[in-house]
Amino acid sequence: MAREKGYFSKSDFTKGFQCPKVLWMDAHMHEKFDKSLIDQARLDAGNEIGDMAMAYFGKFVEVKQSFQFDKMAAETAELIAEAARAIEHGEAFSVCEATFKYGHMVCMADIVRVRDAKTLDIIEVKSSTKLKEYHVNDLAYQTAVVQACGYDVASASVMHINSDYVLDGELDLQGFFAIEDMTDEAKARAHDVARTVADFMTYKTAEVEPEVEIGPQCNSPFACGYQTWCWRHVADADIFSLAGMGRTRALGRLNEGISSFGDAMAGIKLTALQRAQITAETGRGDTANIEELTKFLEGVTYPVYHLDFETVQPIVPRYQGTKPWQQVPTQFSVHKVEAPGASPKHAEFLAEHDADPRRAIAEALCATIPADACVTAYNMGFEKGRIRELADQFPDLADHLMGIHDGIIDLMVPFRSGWVYLKAMQGSYSIKKVLPALCPDDPDLDYAALEGVHNGTEAIIAFEQLDDADPAKRPEIREQLLRYCELDTLAMVKVHERLIEIAKHGVTKPI
Ligand code: SF4
Repeated sequence: MAREKGYFSKSDFTKGFQCPKVLWMDAHMHEKFDKSLIDQARLDAGNEIGDMAMAYFGKFVEVKQSFQFDKMAAETAELIAEAARAIEHGEAFSVCEATFKYGHMVCMADIVRVRDAKTLDIIEVKSSTKLKEYHVNDLAYQTAVVQACGYDVASASVMHINSDYVLDGELDLQGFFAIEDMTDEAKARAHDVARTVADFMTYKTAEVEPEVEIGPQCNSPFACGYQTWCWRHVADADIFSLAGMGRTRALGRLNEGISSFGDAMAGIKLTALQRAQITAETGRGDTANIEELTKFLEGVTYPVYHLDFETVQPIVPRYQGTKPWQQVPTQFSVHKVEAPGASPKHAEFLAEHDADPRRAIAEALCATIPADACVTAYNMGFEKGRIRELADQFPDLADHLMGIHDGIIDLMVPFRSGWVYLKAMQGSYSIKKVLPALCPDDPDLDYAALEGVHNGTEAIIAFEQLDDADPAKRPEIREQLLRYCELDTLAMVKVHERLIEIAKHGVTKPI
């Protein structure tokens, strides 16, 4: 459906506060927008939560979205009048996606409650778990437009997810959402809206690309999709690929005159990993701290169990006793290696999609890994956190689970600590970078060759899709999930083997 041109929206107002140049880019160079920089899961969550919230106040009517704003505004005005009449008969309803248009300023209010024909309550729905500064600007803009359209705004509130909500029986919308009254702040800021919009419009309609310095605003409060374009003049500076820097900190260093790896070596306090990276990048070879690595490997005893979990993290709790956004384990893979050089034995678990997975996965884990085992995980905080939660939930399995928990060693440590660094790691200690650096061209370790599921995000999506999938298609999706998780722990077997080789022979000798 074609959008009307020349309008100014609530989303423009929010974008303008982050960086007014975004408005010009949207209008004139939208082809430079890089979707890969955007958190699509956050946007999807916002849509899901918005739909749920409509029913919070009971009966509601949604204004049909056509992006023909005059038409939507006229429909909204009729619905508000109708809702006001309905109150007299004790049949109140909310108006959702209520559209208001004043001049070129347009807003769609998530929920409007009608007190009478000219008095409204505005509710802005957010999928975050707390109130944020920019939410108040959203409300101020809506308040200004609604008032300009001739209504009184009796209250302006933000409805967000209550992070303390625990699912107990059926989902309770009144408990799931929290409402914060921001009327005073929204009305106070509403006075400045027209002036701010006029200022933002000068950016939106400028004939040439506005000169705006790149900076922290490019990633706050959201990652801006125009960074590939706006940061192009600095993207090649070494400082941006230095481990653990982050874009904003790297930009700060660049502004201090630290650009190359040589500048960094001379000018800033470096971690061992950063020193190892610069050593590799400046042609002085890959790094192995044999003494530290050997001490680390002495802690990994046989038989060793390499463990990896996959989880789901539903915004709306699916399982009793869980909270919004809580990680729930659905799957694990374990490769057991009895002795140095022995062939690994594989075990795996994948929960049924239509039942609470936690008891089954806790039992399967205890059946697979002894309580006193030596276990490795890669970035162990994740696995340990899930095991602690299972132990809290199932006291009869707690001793065994906490035994597994206490025996976990983090296979990521040698890389994060800079004890082992290969140039091909490109400043990262993620297993997706470490694995091909340590084991290049091994076809058994090629994530790209997997069917359907190639990374953790795709694993979450695939598990959630099982609910609605054609039953005939489910075995195929389950198989894809299993093979992905299996590769994660096979990768750990190979990384462990390679570390042993490096401890014996240094980084240059291949397996
Ligand atoms: S990348 Fe930064 S400077 Fe460029 S439009 Fe986005 S926020 Fe503004």
